[in-house]
Amino acid sequence: MSEVQSPLTPVTVLRNVGPRIAERLTRLNIHSVEDLLFHLPFRYQDRTRVFPIGTLRPGIEVVIEGEIQLCEIKFARRRMLLCRISDGTGSLTLRFFHFNARQKESLTRGRRIRCFGDVRRGSTTLEMVHPEYRLLEDDQPSPVEEHLTPVYPTTEGMQQAGLRRLLDQAIERLRHNETLLPELLPVELLKQRGLPTLREALLTLHNPPPDISLETLAQGEHPAQRRLVLEELLAHHLSLRQLRAGMKRQNAPALPASTQLKNQLLSKLPFSLTSAQQRVAAEIEHDLGETHPMQRLVQGDVGSGKTVVAVIAALQAVETGLQVAIMAPTELLAEQHFHNFHQWLTPLGIECAWLSGRLKGKRRNQTLDQISSGTAAVAIGTHALFQEEVKFSRLGLVVVDEQHRFGVHQRLALREKGIRDGVHPHQLIMTATPIPRTLAMTAYADLDVSVIDELPPGRTPVETVAIPDSRRDEIIERIRHACGDGRQSYWVCPLIEESDSLQCQAAEETAVLLTANLPEYNVGLVHGRLRPEEKASVMDAFKAGEIDLLVATTVIEVGVDVPNASLMVIENAERLGLAQLHQLRGRVGRGSEKSSCLLMYHAPLSERAHARLTIMRGTNDGFEIARKDLELRGPGEVLGTKQTGMLQLRIADLSRDQSLLPELTGLADQMLNQYPDRVAPLIRRWLGEGVRYGTV
Ligand code: ADP
Ligand code: MG
Repeated sequence: MSEVQSPLTPVTVLRNVGPRIAERLTRLNIHSVEDLLFHLPFRYQDRTRVFPIGTLRPGIEVVIEGEIQLCEIKFARRRMLLCRISDGTGSLTLRFFHFNARQKESLTRGRRIRCFGDVRRGSTTLEMVHPEYRLLEDDQPSPVEEHLTPVYPTTEGMQQAGLRRLLDQAIERLRHNETLLPELLPVELLKQRGLPTLREALLTLHNPPPDISLETLAQGEHPAQRRLVLEELLAHHLSLRQLRAGMKRQNAPALPASTQLKNQLLSKLPFSLTSAQQRVAAEIEHDLGETHPMQRLVQGDVGSGKTVVAVIAALQAVETGLQVAIMAPTELLAEQHFHNFHQWLTPLGIECAWLSGRLKGKRRNQTLDQISSGTAAVAIGTHALFQEEVKFSRLGLVVVDEQHRFGVHQRLALREKGIRDGVHPHQLIMTATPIPRTLAMTAYADLDVSVIDELPPGRTPVETVAIPDSRRDEIIERIRHACGDGRQSYWVCPLIEESDSLQCQAAEETAVLLTANLPEYNVGLVHGRLRPEEKASVMDAFKAGEIDLLVATTVIEVGVDVPNASLMVIENAERLGLAQLHQLRGRVGRGSEKSSCLLMYHAPLSERAHARLTIMRGTNDGFEIARKDLELRGPGEVLGTKQTGMLQLRIADLSRDQSLLPELTGLADQMLNQYPDRVAPLIRRWLGEGVRYGTV
């Protein structure tokens, strides 16, 4: 098929579509007749047959027909019109709360009536409340519908019936116009899988035959649906692959493996790298040596030692005289990274700069100078690092931590920032929220993925229990006990209000209470509103063992590392997501001592919260937790696509359609090799004109 990009057909070619209707359609993301055809029903009504009243059950939506026996106005709590109809197999009541005199007059005894509506259980008979109805003429045939009736997602000012009429016109065009929505999937592929063509699939879904299985449709398992889903997923996958291919054509500084700094670092480390760390570090080392930019995602559970792997990568750039930018999504995370990197790099004579949005005035200017002059080889901060005014002297590597909070668009924006004279920096992305493999391959098809699938030796699994907050005294006793044994504890007061200051206040009050309850021990407090020096001094005291119990907000979520701390209490645990609970719990179990985590909750638990706490009690494995999280929340929320606009799917549902994911890579290969000219139209069809993936 020779591919000519045919322009899309504007909706205004349809009858009755002027600027106003066109604007309303835009709200449904419908800009063209093609879009309209991809606007699929979310359910169907069966108006193809008339049900005998005697066979009805409550809860079904059906067409019935019968003779009016009685019609009267009743006053119960409200005024209403009741109409009893019968078809010889049974009788049923129609109930109207809104009606007028003319309506009452027309519903006369003896007339035949056809109704469509939900069957409900009434006080004496089955009933329909406000059914759609039509009076029948005895001498005229009144055929039923030939197809199931589609019900479409709609918007204000756009009636269901109006939308259906527009779709009827669009479908008519599809039937008669071969060039509208050409087939882009290879015929043999469809044959192999028993899938219909695009045309057949759309016709089926907009006008399903009466014998189709409504259940199969509702579950999204009909071949017509699977076909569209497959095409959409393939389009997304291809667009990410194109993005990746584009990156491979770009230039990056090839960085020779570090010979000096790396060895100096390794000789100073108090431990040796795990084999997983060595493997991933080698993968990165290899990528950095290439002349095109690295795009690598490192997944590793909490505590698996990602930081040191990033430090090693940074050294490879620094040794060649290039700079490294390290970015975290929040100030607190960035600060903790600064602390870690500073600690590893200063002894090697490498200067680190710290840049946050809060840094102002003279100190900010100094930092900007350090970065632009290149005296700071490493700059650490939030996205503030990528503002206009921040100029790197020679950026070679960008490290992004906690990738799950960034979407594909932010990833692209970051890449563009570092470009200088057509040379792109390498990019390393680290996430502590592991994502199951097939999902990662779909969402991150533009990245290479490495997994640190091993924890440093000597970690003992954390014993986790859930306790209602009514047993707070008992929990305090456990802390007393732990402190008595010379061990340290955390008491975490996570965000319960959407306000930083209220969260800090809650932590302050808790600290006062615990100090009163545990007078014999030292209680410390750390939260986001303390000044960095204050925070640092509290953390130092905790590390030095001078503080026995540290009351904290989620400041400690990432990066805090005190092996002697072996007990953690998490308040309001029922309100936290699995990923965050797992992050927090990762702060204990870092020494050889047996550690515990007490998840304190406020009863009663919702079903979901109960499920989350049960999962936390059942396993310490981040990958296992990620899989369960995926089941509970669905991929959209797990990947954070809701906020970031990554992978906005129209028809596919990554949870429901997971079984299709493994074959995408192979299908994409086939398209790229055998039908390269169909790739761009396919991407354009599903991702719209806005995609620039291929040209970045
Ligand atoms: P994360 O992957 O969660 O970012 P970190 O990089 O913070 O983990 O590492 C967690 C802790 O484990 C740190 O104290 C770090 O120094 C230590 N660590 C890292 N690698 C090893 C190792 N191979 N052996 C022992 N401890 C290690
Ligand atoms: Mg980390």
